[in-house]
Amino acid sequence: MINKKIIMNEISPITSVRNLLVVKENIETASKKYLIDDTDNSGTETKLVAVSKTRKSEEILPVLEAGQRIFGENKVQEAAEKWLDLKHKYSDIELHLIGPLQTNKVKQAVEIFDIIETVDREKLAVTLRKEFDRSGKELPVFIQVNTGEEEQKSGIKPSGCDEFISFCISELNLPVKGLMCIPPVGEPPAPHFALLKKIAKRNGLEIVSMGMSGDYELAAAMGANYVRVGSAIFGER
Ligand SMILES: *Cc1c(COP(=O)(O)O)cnc(C)c1O
Repeated sequence: MINKKIIMNEISPITSVRNLLVVKENIETASKKYLIDDTDNSGTETKLVAVSKTRKSEEILPVLEAGQRIFGENKVQEAAEKWLDLKHKYSDIELHLIGPLQTNKVKQAVEIFDIIETVDREKLAVTLRKEFDRSGKELPVFIQVNTGEEEQKSGIKPSGCDEFISFCISELNLPVKGLMCIPPVGEPPAPHFALLKKIAKRNGLEIVSMGMSGDYELAAAMGANYVRVGSAIFGER
């Protein structure tokens, strides 16, 4: 029997490319709003991370052809299967890990990804340091912040952020470039975005990654440097 679900969920190249253009346009409009409202952070450019998790290479290719170069995946194995090939064809890809990273996958993650957005605990930070030293390849990392203090969600709680960031930078010499968050489902995201910006600022970090399909315009208007958008480009998963 034919698997109807998979066929229905596949997106046509025309649709995904049209979605991509709309999302990019919306981001530009939203980040301009921000520039007008808050001169303190003027010059913030919001970049789009196209989240291609669960999508096949054939679905990703049209979006690549349309010029998109920054992508996000949440699983190391899945990313390796798709992106080793795609990275051969397009040398200027920037691939972000946006999902949880187990320490036994760190070696493979460092091979395939360009930015790790989800550093969320000491053991992972230490393992990354060791792998950077061993491989001679060092990637920019973001700290994941559990802004909603949800028990089941990964990330450093806001009260522990300053200490953890300083541990990563001072003790481990990790290239910590920014913070990322995933606000709790069903809550207004704005306070979480504002909190992430605040923690970044007081720790001297320049980059925040925040905002998904439902709230990327708000995030861009609040000074996101990266928004991570999946279903608004590739359709529902
Ligand atoms: C899946 C995912 C996204 C994209 O979600 P959409 O709602 O499809 O845009 C963004 N960030 C993370 C961490 C994700 O896992």
